[in-house]
Amino acid sequence: MSEPSTSSTVVQPTGPVDHDVDLLIVGAGPSGLYAAYYAGFRALSVAVVDSLTEPGGQLAALYPEKVIYDVGGIPSILGRELAADLFKQAQTYDPIILLGHSAGELTRLDDGTLQVATNTGLLIRAKAILVTAGIGIFTPRPLPAGQQYEGRGLRYFVPDPNALRGKRVLVVGGGDSAVDYALMLEQVAASVTVCHRRNEFRAHEASVQQLRESSMRIMTPYQVSSVEGDGRIEVVEVTDHDTGASERLDVDELVAALGFVAELGPLANWGMELRHRHIAVDTTMATSVPRIFAAGDITDYPGKVKLISVGLGEAATAVNNAAVVIDPSKKLFPGHSSDPGKQPT
Ligand SMILES: Cc1cc2nc3c(=O)[nH]c(=O)nc-3n(C[C@H](O)[C@H](O)[C@H](O)COP(=O)(O)OP(=O)(O)OC[C@H]3O[C@@H](n4cnc5c(N)ncnc54)[C@H](O)[C@@H]3O)c2cc1C
Repeated sequence: MSEPSTSSTVVQPTGPVDHDVDLLIVGAGPSGLYAAYYAGFRALSVAVVDSLTEPGGQLAALYPEKVIYDVGGIPSILGRELAADLFKQAQTYDPIILLGHSAGELTRLDDGTLQVATNTGLLIRAKAILVTAGIGIFTPRPLPAGQQYEGRGLRYFVPDPNALRGKRVLVVGGGDSAVDYALMLEQVAASVTVCHRRNEFRAHEASVQQLRESSMRIMTPYQVSSVEGDGRIEVVEVTDHDTGASERLDVDELVAALGFVAELGPLANWGMELRHRHIAVDTTMATSVPRIFAAGDITDYPGKVKLISVGLGEAATAVNNAAVVIDPSKKLFPGHSSDPGKQPT
């Protein structure tokens, strides 16, 4: 398994900076990451923007520990491993990767350039846009307390379990992500406690059984009532939902896996024809708005199938068609990556 390289410009939310590129890709899920590779292969300059702070879309956010079997050429791979490999491939041609920024208002400038403002104040100008926004902007469901500790002990993702090696970890939640994270972290953490506000877990039955048979402490029906620490999380108070009794736990890392809310957000105002909250595209993956293409789960057309493999193919089709729109002297067919002279330098 390959780890994400850091050679690209990975930008977390900071002060405003403008970017001018050939292609802006909205969404760093599998479709957007593969599109970033492909656009680089087509010699386009690229910016990728994602509202999440981790690349990988649903793979990283919803099922990092699930095994995926149906991506061509890869017999089996964990969600987080595929996300890491796609991220590494996406960086082949050094795109600008802007994580933690949501694409917001769209403006068409006088010369036809498309300008997108992010929620963080960035302006990205592009000759074309590829929307690979999946099911929309995911927002982690917040903990009832302690949100101010995000990045200082509180996290919503665990892309690399080794970051929590030797730590006392509290995992909060009862769905697949919470239980999968707990099972993964049990291998490396000093201790793992799982706290869920209901007695029943929603996760896959076999995973719940594995959790119950493990040495992890399971606290149900408990929820987090307060978080304390001098700079970083040190103590988490959890309260029994039924009796109101509280307990204080010494905690180094709090993993909040309470699920995500997804919404199309500002993209719904870009003027693209929508069908059932998805973007209608033609066979070139063009939307109804000139110079805007779409690929992956966000698209709708007759016969659409929502799978990683389908999104990857759509991304290649979209980028090759966008390449011709951006520069009409380019050919639609890209040639083969295996052709002499086509290898990345
Ligand atoms: C539990 C589960 C298991 C699955 N298992 C499989 C499987 O085994 N095989 C398979 O083929 N498929 C599987 N899928 C489906 C697969 O994950 C999706 O088809 C795939 O993730 C779609 O990729 P995408 O890049 O189109 O969208 P997504 O993965 O949804 O990524 C979209 C990205 O766009 C970002 N975004 C959205 N709006 C904005 C905005 N305005 N600004 C900035 N960023 C934005 C989001 O933050 C997100 O990161 C599974 C799905 C789930 C939920």
